Amino acid sequence: MPNRTNDLNAWDRDHFFHPSTHMALHARGESPRRMMQGGEGCYITDSEGRRSLDAFAGLYCVNVGYGRTEIADAIAKQAHELAYYHAYVGHGTEASITLARMIVERAPAHMSRVYFGLSGSDANETNIKLIWYYNNVLGRPEKKKIISRWRGYHGSGVMTGSLTGLALFHSHFDLPRAPVLHTEAPYFFRRADRNQSEEQFSAHCAEKLEEMILAEGPDTIAAFIGEPILGTGGIVPPPKGYWAAIQAVLKKYDILLVADEVVTGFGRLGSMFGSTHYGMEPDLITIAKGLTSAYAPLSGSIVSQRVWDVLVQGSDAFGPIGHGWTYSAHPICAAAGVANLALIDEMGLVKNAGETGAYFNKALKDALSGHRNVGEVRGDGLMAAVEFVEDRDDRRFFDPSSKVGPTIASALLEEGVIGRAMPQGDILGFAPPLCLTPKEAETVVAATLKAVKRVLG
Ligand code: PLP
Repeated sequence: MPNRTNDLNAWDRDHFFHPSTHMALHARGESPRRMMQGGEGCYITDSEGRRSLDAFAGLYCVNVGYGRTEIADAIAKQAHELAYYHAYVGHGTEASITLARMIVERAPAHMSRVYFGLSGSDANETNIKLIWYYNNVLGRPEKKKIISRWRGYHGSGVMTGSLTGLALFHSHFDLPRAPVLHTEAPYFFRRADRNQSEEQFSAHCAEKLEEMILAEGPDTIAAFIGEPILGTGGIVPPPKGYWAAIQAVLKKYDILLVADEVVTGFGRLGSMFGSTHYGMEPDLITIAKGLTSAYAPLSGSIVSQRVWDVLVQGSDAFGPIGHGWTYSAHPICAAAGVANLALIDEMGLVKNAGETGAYFNKALKDALSGHRNVGEVRGDGLMAAVEFVEDRDDRRFFDPSSKVGPTIASALLEEGVIGRAMPQGDILGFAPPLCLTPKEAETVVAATLKAVKRVLG
């Protein structure tokens, strides 16, 4: 009888082009690989029966946890009833219409409509096109540049990879190449002037933004995009006063604000949306991951009433909008979304993210912040990060070639817990499912402490 596992190992090395993977090491069989098979709650199991507590919820997306039959049943029901019909020229399904309603009901009060996509990247592509269209309708064809932040993450496409402010996603891909500018990251721990308070640093970020706007010409700047809390750039909550200071500048120059809530939407910070959590008043909101807890691929651009009114004016002038994806508002994904949002309410997950998140963040801080190589433990809700440094006193970072972050993440996996080595810096990130219990939080903290001690002593 052929050995199925050996076949799969070989096929994986020979045929599967994995995202964000060292291609040569994988193909040569020199890097770890793992085939996942099942999951329940916060735990996943691989093909060898190894169980791990997934403290990163996949890619901060499996918010309700693994194995929820309510969502699986909704997907199956929709697939039997009607697996697909498009959403062009006014078509919809009960699931897609209901989901649009559920999203707008949960979103900040001034939001109005949802345009559905399949990934966070394509939703941000939609946002940028809508912003360009908006300024064309308003007769401002020069107002097209988008300001993003260094360390922001907004996707991997040509436009969205350009918006992303991480070197790994630019280098050797000829990015950024769209009309995108990057401004200072709101990263208090890494601020250049260590005498600055959080408020002073926020004011400094706003000044840098205003300088950029004035240097480029305010009439050329269309929008500013930011995650409420930096995610892939290092899991960094905004410094005190940051969003108020930034929004004052944007208002002054009539620049739209896009809140990229792909990670924070639907509860991760203990509020339904990160925008409300930090007092942001966005014109557009990007959603994805937590919308279906990744049970099916679905994203959305939530458009404010102010933007919608201009778009409507545009279609009266120019006709139907020339922007569509075949799978926009896919019924199976929409059915997953409806079941998922209902489950988030039923399980009280937004509240749990706030409460267990506070417990988790405190426990992580108590356990790790005294370690001589821990520069900062930070987080909010169910997002947390530990940043490692070679020397705490003069905030000297490790040489990236020593790969301290990835080594600690590997040691943590051996302790039975999945964390994520964030791509820029020695930063161990956590974003567990929103159903995490205090006991599971303790397991993550204890395993992290063990892993750190194993690697750094
Ligand atoms: N925006 C943010 C804030 C993200 O974290 C991500 C993915 O991690 C994206 C956009 C891109 O989403 P996707 O990978 O679904 O294209």
